Amino acid sequence: HARISARIAGITESATLAVDAKAKALKAAGRPVIGFGAGEPDFPTPEPIVQAAVQACADPRNHRYTPAGGLPELKEAIAAKTSRDSGYEVKPSQVLVTNGGKQAVYETFATLLDPGDEVLLPAPYWTTYPEPIALAGGVTVPVVTDESSGYLASVEQLEAARTPRTKVLLFNSPSNPTGAVYPRAQVEAIGRWAAEHGIWVVTDEIYEHLTYDGAEAPSMPVLVPEIADRCVVLNGVAKTYAMTGWRVGWLIGPADVVKAATNLQSHLTSNVANVSQRAALAAVSGSLDAVASMRAAFDRRRRTIVKLLSDIPGVECPTPQGAFYAYPSVKALLGKEIRGLRPTTSVELAALVLEHAEVAVVPGEAFGTPGYFRLSYALGDDDLATGVTRMGALLSEAK
Ligand code: PLP
Repeated sequence: HARISARIAGITESATLAVDAKAKALKAAGRPVIGFGAGEPDFPTPEPIVQAAVQACADPRNHRYTPAGGLPELKEAIAAKTSRDSGYEVKPSQVLVTNGGKQAVYETFATLLDPGDEVLLPAPYWTTYPEPIALAGGVTVPVVTDESSGYLASVEQLEAARTPRTKVLLFNSPSNPTGAVYPRAQVEAIGRWAAEHGIWVVTDEIYEHLTYDGAEAPSMPVLVPEIADRCVVLNGVAKTYAMTGWRVGWLIGPADVVKAATNLQSHLTSNVANVSQRAALAAVSGSLDAVASMRAAFDRRRRTIVKLLSDIPGVECPTPQGAFYAYPSVKALLGKEIRGLRPTTSVELAALVLEHAEVAVVPGEAFGTPGYFRLSYALGDDDLATGVTRMGALLSEAK
């Protein structure tokens, strides 16, 4: 017998967390590393949310297990918030509160996929999606896009990748890692195509509030109500309310899917920590003012990073319209000589940048598209400018 099961041995470490860990380790060893790795807002969690958690700690009700699927009042508040923010009308029984959006992703694929079922995954994709698909025995079918379409997958591309085994389309707008936001007409066209072919849509809306330049990110089941019976919406408080460490996300779906996923969670983790659920309740039922000011800061940093990146010879950076990532192509730099080295992949180039510019970025390999870097701009303005300038000075040596 192998010591580690084949299923689990096949899982790779999250590349984004690995880059972040390496940057933090170098920093701890005294090196002035600037990290663009983690998709984590640098703001504190808004005070009313923290206060709700402080009160929750002292309330003995919160010392006990709650229903596995979440506090009833939180499920109600999530249904109300969903109606408020995207116009999607759902019942509290269609909500499952999870330990972060990540657990919602895992449970969704575990609930929907049988071995051999195919999932269409537009690439570049968030590094976490393929792993739970594989664990469920599903097959990821990447639908590769590039900067020429602004990293948007078309109905034609999806149709070309469809087979009789296609069960699910994973849709993520605004996107991690590209920051791309699908225009309304394209969301609608993709939804209609999915409905026509009976394909399930898992739509990850975790960056819904982070859009810029007047872009909007409409919710697919609102534009195409026919898909609602085969649609799972993923969301969470991490990115909107600077609550990454609180670990609260949720999935919304048809009642049978939610019931089945709740059964799974009842054995996996039971309920999310009550203190975190109380904090999330304050977040989703409170105002969006704090979100607006964080968005303004992200927008400023977005403009800065796109400008600085575009000034580097060999780097091409489309302007992202959402989330807090820039996804420049570095293909023109591969194979060139920098400091006596000749990196030929974005993994090698990112390692060189970390070593010689002390700047941490995540290479495109982690997102299914080699030849790119992902830089999160959810870090302070000064670090952002210093880091990209330092990287640019190094990359300008390429010959
Ligand atoms: N979905 C996307 C697209 C993400 O980028 C993330 C976090 O990076 C998540 C979901 C899950 O976030 P969390 O598990 O912190 O709620």
